[in-house]
Amino acid sequence: HVKTTDTIIAAIEAHSAHNYHPLPVVVATAEGAWMTDVEGRRYLDLLAGYSALNFGHGNRRLLDAAKAQLERVTLTSRAFHHDRYAAFCAQLAELCGMEMVLPMNTGAEAVETAVKTARKWGYRVKGVPAEMAKIVVAANNFHGRTTTIISFSTDPEARADYGPYTPGFEIVPYGDLTAMRAALTENTVAVLLEPIQGEAGVLVPPPGYLRGVRELTRERNVLFVADEIQSGLGRTGRTFACEHEDVVPDVYVLGKALGGGIVPVSAVVSSRNVLGVFRPGEHGSTFGGNPLACAVALEVIAMLRSGEYQARAAELGERLHRELAPLTDTGRVTAVRGRGLWAGVDIHPRYGTGREISEKLLDLGVLVKDTHGATIRIAPPLVISEEDLDWGVARLRAVLGA
Ligand code: PLP
Repeated sequence: HVKTTDTIIAAIEAHSAHNYHPLPVVVATAEGAWMTDVEGRRYLDLLAGYSALNFGHGNRRLLDAAKAQLERVTLTSRAFHHDRYAAFCAQLAELCGMEMVLPMNTGAEAVETAVKTARKWGYRVKGVPAEMAKIVVAANNFHGRTTTIISFSTDPEARADYGPYTPGFEIVPYGDLTAMRAALTENTVAVLLEPIQGEAGVLVPPPGYLRGVRELTRERNVLFVADEIQSGLGRTGRTFACEHEDVVPDVYVLGKALGGGIVPVSAVVSSRNVLGVFRPGEHGSTFGGNPLACAVALEVIAMLRSGEYQARAAELGERLHRELAPLTDTGRVTAVRGRGLWAGVDIHPRYGTGREISEKLLDLGVLVKDTHGATIRIAPPLVISEEDLDWGVARLRAVLGA
């Protein structure tokens, strides 16, 4: 007996913390770019788990890799070695053009790890005096939900009533090189940035910004830490969003799609000079780098190595942006931003809030998520077909009456 959506949602609300406000749909199954709810209705997924599902739901290659590993060994903890770890570290390092990998599980843990890495590097390699390390971050960032990470958020919703906050961070406007230059001191150990700000509404920095940050950080002996958790692994039409400016950071922070939408897998990837600062016992995670995570991630890495998903994101992204651009002429949309198969669409308030538009799209069989009131974020699985993408955009047009 299938319970109705409303009954199930009431049951969820009764015993779960209300730290999210999900759209009123209860998913039962999913395949490719489509999800089916408990009542058998189908929806086109234009969110892809905030880019964790770049390769689609139920991807055959990823499922097979996971199933095979499930039958072998799933967890050893890092107390012992396991036979998938060497390949995972070597192949992820190679994909990134780096030397060393430190695996975690969620994105926030990887960002925490990057913060700890930068501070340790600052004290042990750069020679910053004890307790003086500073990390420069951008306004409107989103790097996760831990106490330290929200300490340098500028979003009141993410921060309120969680103090006291972790010190050691300086916030500068995103896209402003002059402010960045002024913020760097001899105690700055890192600049931590999203190469495209996802949660802020898919904000692409002005041309030359990432290259400028790269030059500044190199000149001042500061680590450039790129949080590519949402922007990386194919989404923008390249393996990394930094590539659009031919920039190679000192540290990549990866997550989301690295686990293929099956298991949480995140990692900090960098040079031996940087990640070599850790000694046994100084950092860790019970599940970080577990055999199941490594097996799935190895398949993700193999898929990315072929370049086909990046090419598809570039091609479909051009199509998406070509179709979205005219919406600004109608006055119903005030801006469209993005890169590759990733777009932030600002809705004119007269035509509804982001939430209202998302709910109307839900009724038409399309799943998106609003961000910051007026913005709809579009990030379909990279495996979406052209027809489905066109169909989804047509639904958005219909909802806007454009
Ligand atoms: N960094 C960026 C750029 C993100 O977009 C996110 C999640 O949206 C995170 C970090 C946090 O990842 P997680 O939710 O897995 O902790």
